[in-house]
Amino acid sequence: MRRLDPDYKGFRGSGVEPDRRRNAPLEAVVCTVCGRKCNVPRGVALEQGEQYVCSRCIEEGRAPQPTATAEQ
Ligand SMILES: [Zn+2]
Repeated sequence: MRRLDPDYKGFRGSGVEPDRRRNAPLEAVVCTVCGRKCNVPRGVALEQGEQYVCSRCIEEGRAPQPTATAEQ
């Protein structure tokens, strides 16, 4: 049986994901809620752009709720 590798740093360690860091170029975007600059994968930067909300704000529930008009 394979358990978690004891050397595994954990997914919340330093905010760095070694596996993705290599493939995904990071881009600096500014969180619209707290104004902090964060490095996110380019795909996220392109997708969310000026509406980016950092993970900390999302965790604290400060992110504006998306308006789900498509779903009824
Ligand atoms: Zn934020």
